[in-house]
Amino acid sequence: MVELNGNSRVYGIFGDPVSHSLSPLMQNMAMQSAGLDAIYVPFRVTPENLSAAVGGIRSMQLGGVNITLPHKQQVLPFLDRIDDDASLIGAVNTIVRCEDELVGFNTDGLGFIRSLSEDLVFDPARKKVLLLGAGGACRAAAVALLRSGVEELYIVNRSRERVDCLVERIAPTFSEQQIASYGLTDVGYLQALERADLVVNTTSIGLKGEAIDFCPLTKIKASASIYDMVYSPVETPFVAAARARGLEAADGIGMLAGQGEEAFFLWFGVRPENGLMKKCLQHICEKMNS
Ligand code: NDP
Repeated sequence: MVELNGNSRVYGIFGDPVSHSLSPLMQNMAMQSAGLDAIYVPFRVTPENLSAAVGGIRSMQLGGVNITLPHKQQVLPFLDRIDDDASLIGAVNTIVRCEDELVGFNTDGLGFIRSLSEDLVFDPARKKVLLLGAGGACRAAAVALLRSGVEELYIVNRSRERVDCLVERIAPTFSEQQIASYGLTDVGYLQALERADLVVNTTSIGLKGEAIDFCPLTKIKASASIYDMVYSPVETPFVAAARARGLEAADGIGMLAGQGEEAFFLWFGVRPENGLMKKCLQHICEKMNS
């Protein structure tokens, strides 16, 4: 345990609820391993207290915080500056305090791309990728995939209106790349599923062990990979079904570690020990399973 003193810097996470968050464990472990005089604390911040809590980053001189549900979108108006991609995504998961200025970033997309590379050895450049969902996590993944040079991006969501809004929002920034949106019953969705090199679950389905009944894995080509942003101590049903079909598949643990590593880098300007955050998360999952 780090020995706190008058100069120790304080970081943290704002969320409601926040008690389930794995970030304090992995961030504190990484700070300690890097020999930093810093600590990372969970703060339960209710929606009505968000503005005051963000003000507290300034008044109490916190180094920075992560932002989790339900505040990732609502926090934007309280910040001084927002990174271009976080602005395009419309959500912030990391705040950095530079003197009195609070700057918002979104590291979810970068964490996702890192995890694709590490867990599936998948490089999105010139590939065709299908995203299931159209929420905040999907927006972060879509922007990161397009920045990484994906050739065709298909986004499929239950609510057609929501996915159309998403595409309308991001398409002008990526006019050279093809982006298509589909509802769950569109024929075009099944055709896109057959073409995709990577299929990603960005919906919340699977958090409670539910299967995704609208994604027929038999349509997916044998060389394609599956990524499930949902993470849980046990194999998610989507990952289990994909592996049973012989497809390469990974869950969202690597993305959670990756977004944390990117936040750490924004705060401290150095990278945490390679693989440490992921090892920490895997260790917690093993403990929860035993
Ligand atoms: P949102 O609430 O913003 O979006 C949820 C999405 O899931 C929507 O597209 C919604 O569709 C869809 N959905 C939910 N239930 C169903 C259903 N029964 N049938 C079809 N579609 C459904 O959530 P987020 O985008 O913030 O998060 C999504 C998931 O990503 C969560 O599980 C979260 O834990 C995970 N995540 C993982 C991270 C990681 O580091 N691994 C980081 C961030 C998120 P509709 O629009 O029609 O309602």
